[in-house]
Amino acid sequence: MLSSLSSFCVLWIVFRIILTIILNLPALCIDIMEDLPFKEACKEHDFLREALSDGYYQDEYEGVGHIGRLRRFLRDIRTELVCEKDSSSLVLLETLDMSLEHRDSLDAEFLTLEDYIPYRKMNFDYEFVCQLLRWAMKIPMRFSPEEELLVSRYEHSIGIIVGLTNDYFSWEMECNQPTDRLRNAVAILMKEHSIPEPEAKVILKHYIMIEEKRAVELKHQLDCNTEDFEQATRYLTALELFAAGYNFWCSTCPRYHRIQKE
Ligand SMILES: [Mg+2]
Repeated sequence: MLSSLSSFCVLWIVFRIILTIILNLPALCIDIMEDLPFKEACKEHDFLREALSDGYYQDEYEGVGHIGRLRRFLRDIRTELVCEKDSSSLVLLETLDMSLEHRDSLDAEFLTLEDYIPYRKMNFDYEFVCQLLRWAMKIPMRFSPEEELLVSRYEHSIGIIVGLTNDYFSWEMECNQPTDRLRNAVAILMKEHSIPEPEAKVILKHYIMIEEKRAVELKHQLDCNTEDFEQATRYLTALELFAAGYNFWCSTCPRYHRIQKE
């Protein structure tokens, strides 16, 4: 009985995560805008945000081209979330809008990996990803202060792992792309330590592995109090699965592992 119940729970979590990934498609699609010049990308983000605003009903660009399709997708998401008349859905909508506002909005040059990490998490829409998971799992958008402290440390750790793992595996593609801003931890480490690319990749991999160990230790702290923090523990497990799935995708996807034709 216990094992069929736990199998059901696992299936339920997987289903919710699949749903989450589907809903997170805009973030993946917006990745393509990193190819645009900085000022143009900022304009495109504002253009997309219009689809989430109150007054947005008619759209002559609806469904036209990549941006038009994304605008329609965002407007549909907004309509559905507003119809739910649920405070968590409105929080999620606000976070999505904020994510679009701040994503790729800094025209700065990062000199150290530590300076770059907060930007990397923001550029990954990571706050939105976390809120989306909480919303999809129907757990609080904010836990008690005690739980939130532990949870936010784990979120931060997973954010570093997924952001930097993406940089690690996407480097070969990104270093050859024509762009006015190369945002990748490999380039930053090369500059920070005046080292060649292979050495920077080794350092980056080591940095990610240390962070993975930290995440395991943090999760263990919460696992020791499973009964007190049942929902938070489930959320951490979902974050762990998200990181595992995303890292697997980064390490195997054709986007990063074959010669780009466009
Ligand atoms: Mg990348």
